[in-house]
Amino acid sequence: YMNITSLDQMIHDTVAKYLKKQLIVAGNWKMNMTVQEGMNFLEKIGNTDANVIIFPPYTTLALLAGEMRKRGIHYGPQNFHFLDKGAYTGEISIPMIRELGCGFLLAGHSERRQYYNETDDILQKKVVKGVSSGFQVVLCIGENLEERKSGKWRNRLAEQMILDLKDLGHHELDSVLIAYEPVWAIGTGVSASIEEIEETHCFLKAFMRKIFGRELPILYGGSVNENNALKIGACSVVDGFLIGGASLDPDKFLKIIEISKRV
Ligand code: PEP
Repeated sequence: YMNITSLDQMIHDTVAKYLKKQLIVAGNWKMNMTVQEGMNFLEKIGNTDANVIIFPPYTTLALLAGEMRKRGIHYGPQNFHFLDKGAYTGEISIPMIRELGCGFLLAGHSERRQYYNETDDILQKKVVKGVSSGFQVVLCIGENLEERKSGKWRNRLAEQMILDLKDLGHHELDSVLIAYEPVWAIGTGVSASIEEIEETHCFLKAFMRKIFGRELPILYGGSVNENNALKIGACSVVDGFLIGGASLDPDKFLKIIEISKRV
């Protein structure tokens, strides 16, 4: 007879073989984490071979880029301009970001759309600039509560995808990841339900097949934490997470990283 431990191992290996997908774990630090706080955080995270991306604020990004690289963590800014330089006070450009060895760019977060008037028109320019400069762009899209309740969410998401990804070639689409973030679930502590996430990601994937002839990876964002990540990540249409609040706590973030490796 086979002992229980080896049977257990065999089941584990078989399941792992069929279900293995390494989820992407992206953390958006927003306007949090000084350099010192970021350093303490990274020391707790240690080295990782998971798919981890962190979007720190600029000062922390600049000073901790090397520390993140050393640990196997991918990184990038939370925003960027579509021009290389000029009289745009307070903005940051692609050449500045390139200097830091960033691989990823975050674009179109709902807070930027809402508080800084980032329109689909501006975002389209940013996405083209980002991918043509060799970066992976994480483009955030999402509907508001009214659009969710009235059933108009499909139209809103379709509109964002069409406008923001306009004029991208097939090859350029290789560098785009979508983060589906329902605005009503961001920072509220209440994520969308599994059914809502599945339905929405399925809709997005079908829509992409129709307009681009292919699917792009989709991260889910909106109150993901160490307790709901396993269930959300287990959905076959979820390719990873974009995490705000829980990405600020190294213990919670580490738990989510662990989950990302064994879903
Ligand atoms: C976000 O802002 O991208 C986000 C998902 O935030 P939170 O996880 O805090 O809801």
